[in-house]
Amino acid sequence: MKKVLIYSNELSRSEYTADHPFKPVRGKLLMELLHRYLLIYEDNQIVIPPRPIEEELISVFHDRTYIELLKAAGNGGFSEEMLHAGLGTGDNPVFLGMYELSRLIAGGTFYGAEMVASGEADVVFNPIGGMHHAGRDHASGFCYLNDIAITITDLVRKGMRIAYIDIDVHHGNGVQDAFYETDQVLTISLHESGESLYPGCGYEHETGAGPGRGFTVNIPLREGTDDEVYLFAFESIVPPLIEKFRPDMVFAELGGDGHKDDPLAHLNLTTNGYERVVKRIRENSPKLMATGGGGYNVYRTAAMWTLAWAAMCGLTPIDQYVGSVGGMMYGPEMHMGRLNDEPFVLEGPEKDACLSHARRVVGYLMEKVFPIHGL
Ligand SMILES: [Zn+2]
Repeated sequence: MKKVLIYSNELSRSEYTADHPFKPVRGKLLMELLHRYLLIYEDNQIVIPPRPIEEELISVFHDRTYIELLKAAGNGGFSEEMLHAGLGTGDNPVFLGMYELSRLIAGGTFYGAEMVASGEADVVFNPIGGMHHAGRDHASGFCYLNDIAITITDLVRKGMRIAYIDIDVHHGNGVQDAFYETDQVLTISLHESGESLYPGCGYEHETGAGPGRGFTVNIPLREGTDDEVYLFAFESIVPPLIEKFRPDMVFAELGGDGHKDDPLAHLNLTTNGYERVVKRIRENSPKLMATGGGGYNVYRTAAMWTLAWAAMCGLTPIDQYVGSVGGMMYGPEMHMGRLNDEPFVLEGPEKDACLSHARRVVGYLMEKVFPIHGL
């Protein structure tokens, strides 16, 4: 079965604006690490450049008026309406070519997921995708077109049942809102609590509505949460629900901004905890479509995605530079390219507070959501 990486140099070279924290160059850093660690040389691995999503498909999720605004903004236009749709703010700047860039990102996810759905590939990873904050009619949190919501909407209308697992440090609100009232999509988001982080939602009591009750699952975590606490929460909730739901395909948003060195958020994950979580997702997902997402320490994010790709392909990274003498891989670059962090374990009262927060959330979900799934 094929393992597909969606990648192009063209996409990696793009930028929103020079000082914006969202950096597609993470794709290029990932690619360099995949070569260094011998993770992109297998016969069943292929690299495919993204192609722009067809305009008609965008409207399976997004409002047509919003699509027109986005297109006009990308052509240099500006209007009051754009601001109301979240376009032209600090988070979501307006820049030339933004519509084409958004179509390319969404196409990477959409056509990648088609390969998984058709059985052509069992794993596809689009590291520059994962725009989980964009709404039907507005941009939000660096996201213009919600590649995930567009793709899952299309898969559901073709009769598939999808489980969505979001480990980005921010709540996957755009995807949650898209599927809040359906039982055909199980959305699970682990994130730093909305009490301390954008977008300020994703509390455990948001569990879906109507036929979708129990099919939206939120695991908010206290700021400071480390690998141990995160893994406890993940293991308690995610594998049992996925096993019961029996999805046709799993969709994962693998944002790297939960890392302890991320400048925009406050969790304390290391690349080791992140790697463990991705391995567990893969074990529970014979068919897996994965995207990147956030991750604003570009070097640690590239390391996390390298580990994620290895885990999804069932490979062990082998550093071909170990033992080499001289050359450019000593000094800071050696450190930047190291995949596994030193272990980090929180202790004392802060650890107790994180653990009791996670225990409370897990207890709530086991009481309110598990019975809906026969658990
Ligand atoms: Zn994020």
